[in-house]
Amino acid sequence: MHLRYSYRICPTAGQRSALARTFGCARVVYNDALAARKQARKDGLPYPKGTDLQKLVITEAKRTAERAWLASVGVDPLIQSLRDLDTAYRNFFDSVSGRRAGRPVGLPHFKSKRDNRQSLRFTRNGFRIRGNGKLNLARIGDVRVKWSRVLPADPSSVTILLDPSGRYYASFVVDVEPEHLPELDTEIGIDLGLTTYAVMSDGSVIDNPRFLRKAEKKLKAAQRALSRKAKGSKNRAKARRKVAKAHAKVADTRMDWLHKQTTGIIRENQAVYLEDLNVRGLGRGRLARSVHDAGWSTFRRLLEEKAARYGRTIGIVHRAFPSSQLCSECGHRDGPKPLAVREWACGACGVLHDRDLNAARNILAAGQADRLNAPGGPVRPGAAIPRQARPVERGTHLGDLPRTGVRAAGAGGIPVL
Ligand SMILES: [Zn+2]
Repeated sequence: MHLRYSYRICPTAGQRSALARTFGCARVVYNDALAARKQARKDGLPYPKGTDLQKLVITEAKRTAERAWLASVGVDPLIQSLRDLDTAYRNFFDSVSGRRAGRPVGLPHFKSKRDNRQSLRFTRNGFRIRGNGKLNLARIGDVRVKWSRVLPADPSSVTILLDPSGRYYASFVVDVEPEHLPELDTEIGIDLGLTTYAVMSDGSVIDNPRFLRKAEKKLKAAQRALSRKAKGSKNRAKARRKVAKAHAKVADTRMDWLHKQTTGIIRENQAVYLEDLNVRGLGRGRLARSVHDAGWSTFRRLLEEKAARYGRTIGIVHRAFPSSQLCSECGHRDGPKPLAVREWACGACGVLHDRDLNAARNILAAGQADRLNAPGGPVRPGAAIPRQARPVERGTHLGDLPRTGVRAAGAGGIPVL
């Protein structure tokens, strides 16, 4: 399976300007290729092939006066930039045809100098790791890396990222064997709550990460300061960097916290069942703030990734399953309850339920039933067949699983594309 390992890197001033030049060239090549494809479509021509595009926007463009500067950077990241465009188109077409699950993907759009994130990818031809631990990038030089943990194998590619707060990262893709943990017989249902972050079927509770609110207060203050600065001034640029830094801090803190929670859950349970909540739908409404704080979809993605890696199972219970209406003791369906109702007594057996704990128990039971019935067997209406966790291709963070013996990378180590 492919995992991503990310590290802070410290390019020198000269390397930073070489990187900036390469970011720019990769962006121009991407945009030129996108424009060529759009033009072909307008003219009713077939889509230009990858090799033809490469010739057009790189090889031949270099010989023109307007694009001669493309020759000043390495060719590998430029080719990778075209591959990204191919992938963007493929995702779009797969999404339209229904081959791709998840939310709809739009057509690729032009990249801007002002995009929040700049990135470049180098393949095996474009980089290597030196004996002294420096990362050699073609036409950029030997860049110092903060190796916060050990790379488990030879990376097949590296993406260089520049985030809006001015930090550089190298994100390596490494092919590793899954490391299945010893099997357990514990299984758990999780109900994602609003008053608490989550409630588990064994009665344990994950509290909301309130510390995020504190970090957000700082962010707000920085944003207010920014709005007071005159446009185009040096002070404004400085204030903008402060806002970006505060943003990065919030994101890092949240990610660290999510990693800690998900690692614990995967380590302690053989199977984890979750409800397929429509997080995007919830996110638009009044609850938007707390939902986004909570980062539910990231929570779920991390669980799935870690499950794939450590040989655990994730079951997703369909969102139509009435987890908060059923009595987990007797199975009586008690009818819908507004969100404000935190406790209720079953109309049939009289047991008093904590809303979230009862829901978590129902999710566990539904998930286990589905798992027994799957695949192909009879499944109760309203409950989807749980998926075996998918292998991952991005953003992993091992936390501090004892068997792996690797250290957590700490805040900021793991930006995800
Ligand atoms: Zn009951």
